Amino acid sequence: MLDFSSLLLAAALSGTCLSITMFAIWFTAPRAGFVLTVGCGILLLVAHVVLFWRYAKAPSPWLCQSVLMLLSLGFLTLCLSAMQYLGMHHYRRAILPTLAAMAVCGTATLFGFDGIGFIITYAAVTVLLSAIGLMFWIKGSNDRRILLVVSFLSGICAVSFGLCGLVLLVNGQWTLGVAPNNWAEALNSVVAVACMTGLGALTLSLHHLQAQIELRAETMTDPLTGLMNRRALMSLYGERSFGPFMSVSMFDLDHFKKTNDLYGHPVGDQVLCRFAAVVRKYARTGVDAYRLGGEEFALVMSRVTEDRAYDIASKISVAFGTEIVATPRGPLRSTVSGGIGFGRVDGARFEDVLAEADAALYAAKRAGRNQVVARRQEDKTGPVGPALRSA
Ligand code: GH3
Ligand code: MG
Ligand code: MG
Repeated sequence: MLDFSSLLLAAALSGTCLSITMFAIWFTAPRAGFVLTVGCGILLLVAHVVLFWRYAKAPSPWLCQSVLMLLSLGFLTLCLSAMQYLGMHHYRRAILPTLAAMAVCGTATLFGFDGIGFIITYAAVTVLLSAIGLMFWIKGSNDRRILLVVSFLSGICAVSFGLCGLVLLVNGQWTLGVAPNNWAEALNSVVAVACMTGLGALTLSLHHLQAQIELRAETMTDPLTGLMNRRALMSLYGERSFGPFMSVSMFDLDHFKKTNDLYGHPVGDQVLCRFAAVVRKYARTGVDAYRLGGEEFALVMSRVTEDRAYDIASKISVAFGTEIVATPRGPLRSTVSGGIGFGRVDGARFEDVLAEADAALYAAKRAGRNQVVARRQEDKTGPVGPALRSA
């Protein structure tokens, strides 16, 4: 059977190893700042455990102060790491109340009321752990299963610290002189070690998950313009059926090869970015923009009538025509051609709508460029002329 000292030693050892793992992960992936914060938080808790072990053997007022301070700081750091992971940057909301609690605790302990100091610290830790649990419960949007386990472990740990404070409160133990020793403390030493080890391991899963999400976002984004790419378009709409209020507009810059040849590739890139900026102005809920590759772009519009879709595509074409890119050879103005394919009442396959848009784009090019052509699905086999609308 393990005695109390061995349990604390084991906790300190596993905590140290966990911190080292966190630091190593952060070293290889510095963008995962929250992993570094978790490592620091666990290290503070390891320092708390070591000092608590000393304090249990040879109590002294300064050791008591340090033990309580490290406990609060450790859990404050873990709370900050949770906020960092979830992208909540109101750190002061956690830091200020915790520092206030630490100040009150320090004062009470200084005047010999170490029991009150323990009660305040346990209360602060309970609140911090509950906040971690709640934040993950409410704000977490990635992998719900991992986030719910984090919430659950934080909650259990919060309850166990809460019980420690409650026992001291109910017994009216305002002054102790030694480390508190009751059934809640014994329970807490086991629960806290188990939960903290679990939370540490889950941090690794969260980091893995975040890396996966970032990688996925990278593979779905066009590095030059920052728009989503063809892969994203296919993965979002490839299997979708296009209804009557859905459409795809395809755009292709006019004589872009000439632009490259005359002004150079870097200027060509600038023109592409300028078009992306124009398109982005019209992208909003229900209107997604993509760079398909080269100088070809697509706009998927949902919950938008055919007339409105045509109107938006035309406005993009006109707006781009007024853009001027400054080059060493003087100002450069470019144009774009567009084609629109529509969904159907009984649903159309994405590839058919895309082919429609492509055919309309080809018609716009043949009709002299710098215009948008919309061809309804029903007119697929009909004559191009009357079914066309051009800007
Ligand atoms: P059209 O009006 O018929 O569309 O003629 P075009 O010259 O625009 O068409 P074409 O398809 O012949 O030329 C496309 C050019 O786009 C060829 C290629 O060098 C250029 N291009 C493709 N990707 C990039 C890129 O990332 N940056 C730059 N600067 N040019 C690119
Ligand atoms: Mg092209
Ligand atoms: Mg072109």
